[in-house]
Amino acid sequence: MLKAKGVTLVAVTKTRSNEQIMRIYDAGLRIFGENRVQELMGKKDDLPADVRWHLIGHLQKNKVKYIAPFIEMIHSVDSPELFLTIQKEAAKNNRTIEVLIQAFVAKEETKFGMDVQELADFWDSEIWKSCPNVRIKGIMGMATNTEDDDLVRMEFRQLKGIFDQAKERFAQDSSLEFSVLSMGMSTDFGIAVEEGSTMVRIGSLLFQ
Ligand SMILES: *Cc1c(COP(=O)(O)O)cnc(C)c1O
Repeated sequence: MLKAKGVTLVAVTKTRSNEQIMRIYDAGLRIFGENRVQELMGKKDDLPADVRWHLIGHLQKNKVKYIAPFIEMIHSVDSPELFLTIQKEAAKNNRTIEVLIQAFVAKEETKFGMDVQELADFWDSEIWKSCPNVRIKGIMGMATNTEDDDLVRMEFRQLKGIFDQAKERFAQDSSLEFSVLSMGMSTDFGIAVEEGSTMVRIGSLLFQ
């Protein structure tokens, strides 16, 4: 695992061939992110077993069963129903799966995640107390895809605020370590890290 100033790098391998992926594996990277279950399942068995897979894209409930046996972290939990499904499938596999709650702050309609009200309801539900096989580690979010750096910075700052609030709330439950803020991609990870990201998801930049 490469770490720079406490920031973890998730290498986003979607659309890349196994040969391309092996080049960054040989360079020492081990945490790989995919956004589609089908693509992930097609690649995984041909790549080394010590790869730590993260699911970073929108996840349908009926697909959780395929990744539950091996996935390390799911970044894109955007509903209580998905959370409960992850619990069910993780338990079947006798595993604990780490998750991030995806928060929606961007201006784009197409992005998934919970808005501020949905997040508040989610924390109020205390759903995790009955889900021992799911470990909430933090928050994931995306900024609007725009050249406007000020808007991107403002959205990352909003995500950091959501993270800090949730962390405070979680501190009351000492069994949970709430420590991951997953934000930043190839074009905006610099701003994300300045605004407090602890985990960046980078694809294009790694494969140039
Ligand atoms: C593709 C993707 C990334 C990486 O994007 P790049 O611009 O290639 O760095 C990060 N996060 C998610 C959710 C993605 O789908």
